[in-house]
Amino acid sequence: FSKENQSTLSAYEWLTKLYHHLLRFTKDGKEGYQYLKNRGISDNAIDEFQLGFAPNVKDFTAEFLKKKGFNQALLVKAGLLSLQNDNSVTDRFRGRIIFPIRNHIGKTIAFGGRTITGGEPKYLNSSESELFQKGKILYNFDLAKKHIRKENEVILFEGYMDVISAYQAGINNVIATLGTALTEYQAKLLNRYVDTVVICYDGDNAGLEATYKAANLLRKVGCQVKIANLQDDLDPDSFIKAHGGDAFRNEVLSTGDTYIHFYMRYLKKDYNLTLEGDRIQYIENILKELAQIDSSVEREYYLSEIHKEYNISMQSLTEEIEKLRSNQG
Ligand code: ATP
Ligand code: MN
Ligand code: MN
Ligand code: MN
Repeated sequence: FSKENQSTLSAYEWLTKLYHHLLRFTKDGKEGYQYLKNRGISDNAIDEFQLGFAPNVKDFTAEFLKKKGFNQALLVKAGLLSLQNDNSVTDRFRGRIIFPIRNHIGKTIAFGGRTITGGEPKYLNSSESELFQKGKILYNFDLAKKHIRKENEVILFEGYMDVISAYQAGINNVIATLGTALTEYQAKLLNRYVDTVVICYDGDNAGLEATYKAANLLRKVGCQVKIANLQDDLDPDSFIKAHGGDAFRNEVLSTGDTYIHFYMRYLKKDYNLTLEGDRIQYIENILKELAQIDSSVEREYYLSEIHKEYNISMQSLTEEIEKLRSNQG
């Protein structure tokens, strides 16, 4: 690490401890603490994830770090302070719950900050820097790593709160991207550690689209994917809150779809399957996907499902698949 980066890491370390202390033990952090309590977060989880609170004061952090002798230009670069038009600096994180974002060796390199008053944006991250590129980091990867290895499976969420809720429910092989789509870098990183990635994104439309993209990226780099079945606009955190960790394990995680079953579900939204023409196009699209599968047993398995559901003979389904496969070369 360069001297600058070392100094940045040191600033993050100070602030992680300070914000956590404020949240946990002081009047200045009480509203943050209360917010997390209302969301059912335990003291143990607050401590494990070093959650904190940045007070709603213009220059609380700036003053604290100045007293510690940190250089202000550096802190702006580190994404902790914002430069104003008149060249003064103000805190970037104000009145927000602080989620320290750790790198693979557990050092905080950025913060995610959530508003507790409904302000915009809901989440604010440190700006990107040499040390922090959100496309290269997976939230909680450092703590989850040994569980991921042990289970040979990782559960991928959208948000910080999903990770923390799952952790509280005793599910530890959990990570999240940082508010952006999964990148190829992250997919390759995961592929070095596990065979199977369980994608468990929010059960809304955005989540469905993001799942499709992430699943294909993961398959491209060689991962097996399973797609958890979250519906009704719930996200993992709200599901766990509503139905408990056991239900999450049994009804969401273990009933996950294979990629093909997910794809069938995903594609359905573009068609009106009560119309004959739509039905045919839908089936043809599924067959195109099935033609990519190398295992004939697997292909046959799905073909027989289509055969049963849409009353098309196995013979014509098989013929169609063979045709598609020979065209692939
Ligand atoms: P909560 O349960 O606290 O409302 P969430 O994790 O369910 O949060 P989502 O809206 O589902 O939040 O977003 C998923 C993730 O995307 C968040 O955890 C955060 O990392 C990121 N995110 C959400 N909104 C923003 C935003 N406005 N700017 C940057 N990142 C965001
Ligand atoms: Mn969402
Ligand atoms: Mn969510
Ligand atoms: Mn949520």
